[in-house]
Amino acid sequence: EEQLAHTKAEAKKTVEKLEQSLKQWAHEYYEQDAPSVLDATYDEAYQHLQALAEQYPDLITEDSILKQVGGQSLKADLPKVSHPVPMLSLGDVFSTEELMDWVKTTQKQIETPLAYNAELKIDGLAISLVYEKGGLVQASTRGDGTIGEDVTQNVREIRAIPKQLKEPLSLEVRGEIYMPKQAFVKLNQQREKDGLKTFANPRNAAAGSLRQLDATITKQRELAAFLYQVVDPVQTLGVKTQAQLLVRLNQLGLPTNHQNKVVQTKEELTAYINTQTANREQLAYGIDGIVIKVNELALHPVLGNTVKVPRWAIAYKFPPEEAETVVRSIEWTV
Ligand code: NAD
Repeated sequence: EEQLAHTKAEAKKTVEKLEQSLKQWAHEYYEQDAPSVLDATYDEAYQHLQALAEQYPDLITEDSILKQVGGQSLKADLPKVSHPVPMLSLGDVFSTEELMDWVKTTQKQIETPLAYNAELKIDGLAISLVYEKGGLVQASTRGDGTIGEDVTQNVREIRAIPKQLKEPLSLEVRGEIYMPKQAFVKLNQQREKDGLKTFANPRNAAAGSLRQLDATITKQRELAAFLYQVVDPVQTLGVKTQAQLLVRLNQLGLPTNHQNKVVQTKEELTAYINTQTANREQLAYGIDGIVIKVNELALHPVLGNTVKVPRWAIAYKFPPEEAETVVRSIEWTV
């Protein structure tokens, strides 16, 4: 359990310190694609701030990191795109107990027994693709959720992403761009040879490779993608569940991940997590957890969103790998 500050004055100082550190780290991570601390360190500080926010809600200001998706500002030299339907983050849990609590809370809001589509949490960066009559017309990053960066030219250089769907549909599809593990190792070896700064992890390499003014750089990097979401899926595609949505996207020629599974019981969910945790190293791409989504798409708008995350999905994050120890760079409580 996090140690909470003793007095409100102390809590205020800690909140300010945490906000400042988290914002600095988010800036390095989202805008510069160069984190200075481990994800686990970031997550620990974030959880600490969340705990303080629960105890002292009035210490949390409108510009709190708890209310922001992604980076605050965007790369100045890339054109901007707005997202009429915001691109959100995901709430996260760090243990199966917390996950089961989330399942319970979610079930309480819906009368019928819920099924979930469990998916891998791909360690890449979020992308939005807009197709008109089957043709790719726009690709953009998540940015702050409302305003993202236009990376259409760059995405056109990614072979895995079709320029033309197999049916002349108009839709906005979202997913993850990632760099396969092998490509990441190769890229860093080359950069080392060339005396260039290496990327901290495949996620940052993918982001750094995509967010380029010069699309020929993106072309040289081996990027891939998995798509998993559609804006207004029931209306646009006539699908009823998240699992069906993935099948349908695949039929349209879009790359989807096939490790998903519909689960209904606690046992099935635990088994899925155990299997995927054990299989993690064998995958050709990095994952940092599991995403559990209410399978019935019609229930998503019923459950709705907070300003930052959907209430119909949650990320279960893997514990930090053994080699990584969480180094606290600041003492949180003052
Ligand atoms: P997140 O990456 O934890 O989760 C949300 C994102 O998951 C979505 O936007 C989507 O892009 C992605 N995702 C991958 N697979 C998905 C799937 N199957 N279904 C749905 N979404 C899927 O949240 P975030 O807000 O992007 O980033 C927060 C996290 O980033 C932190 O928890 C931390 O781990 C890391 N971070 C690290 C630093 C650092 O300095 N090391 C700084 C900031 C953030």
